[in-house]
Amino acid sequence: MFKQTLGIIGGGQLGCMLAVAASKLKIKTVVFCDDKDAPAQKFTNEFLYGEYTDQNKIKDFISKVDIITYEFENIPFETLNEINKTKPVLPKPSINRIIQHRIAEKDFINNLNIRTTRYVSIEKKSDIESVSDLLPGLLKTVTLGYDGKGQYPIDNLQSLESINIDFSKKYILEKRVKLKKEISIIITRFNHHKYEVYEPIENIHENQILKHSKIPAEINDEILNKSKLWATQIAEDLKYIGTLCIEFFIDRNDNLYVNEIAPRVHNSGHLTINAYNVSQFENHIRAVCNLERVPLKKISNAEMLNIIGDQIIKYRNKEFAKNEFFFDYLKKEIKDKRKMGHLTTLLR
Ligand code: ADP
Ligand code: MG
Repeated sequence: MFKQTLGIIGGGQLGCMLAVAASKLKIKTVVFCDDKDAPAQKFTNEFLYGEYTDQNKIKDFISKVDIITYEFENIPFETLNEINKTKPVLPKPSINRIIQHRIAEKDFINNLNIRTTRYVSIEKKSDIESVSDLLPGLLKTVTLGYDGKGQYPIDNLQSLESINIDFSKKYILEKRVKLKKEISIIITRFNHHKYEVYEPIENIHENQILKHSKIPAEINDEILNKSKLWATQIAEDLKYIGTLCIEFFIDRNDNLYVNEIAPRVHNSGHLTINAYNVSQFENHIRAVCNLERVPLKKISNAEMLNIIGDQIIKYRNKEFAKNEFFFDYLKKEIKDKRKMGHLTTLLR
């Protein structure tokens, strides 16, 4: 009955939505996750709980699937690389290795002649003193950060005194861009240089966590075209297979910068489920499982609101209009700053 079995590493909300999209395409899914309460177990055909370094669990996982993908980028490179020796991992582990390291990622982007903010590697406090022209800036852990975790805003050298930074980790210092707007591009690359690109999405973050996304983004044509071009160049250079997200900054002088790359489906693309004929999740499955590519058609303008922490309670008891689509990730525990669900509203 199933055409193929897809292994998904990671069982959060992105894993849920990937599993739902796969089942629509008659692809069986097995989710492997290091959280025994992972929400994706409610949506996948089979769920495997284990540490990402547990060799026996990994072997078991590999034996159950034809092809493997992942829903978040912080999986140890060694794990992905080992799996890739037996069954294909898409996107390729080597891509993940670049992107999960903020400095390697920015070096890669700049080598394509694509602008990022200025940045420097930091190993100790005194390194910051010698690059004070990058202040005000953001100090970020080089690996393992998400949703603003592992980030310290640094306004000036004096403010550095009052922050306690754990220098057993490596950091990148980025100059703060005077933001006018943030946008993202979701792009799916298939084999043979073929792409499906969604229109730019305008994003609002609160406390470094995505809060709101909408299409169309209110941007000029030059930024629209340049963001699509840069996203395509990045996907092509990586020979990427699957869905990829590029996050951009636009400064007050309308300069465009790439902020970061997410080698996976992305929170800002949740509205593609309702606003397009094919969602970012379905496109990811189509690309990694080598299924037919369906040209994108937009159905509607849309906005998406992230439901964070205990805000979820009121949504669980709410009635929705016809143009509103509520998604509850069914996470076991409500936590402060945790993404619990989202609401997409289709607009005219
Ligand atoms: P994460 O991996 O947590 O998504 P990001 O680097 O994308 O980390 O940072 C999260 C948010 O913080 C960005 O979307 C932006 O709103 C803000 N931010 C991060 N770096 C900068 C910067 N250099 N200049 C201005 N704002 C920034
Ligand atoms: Mg980000």
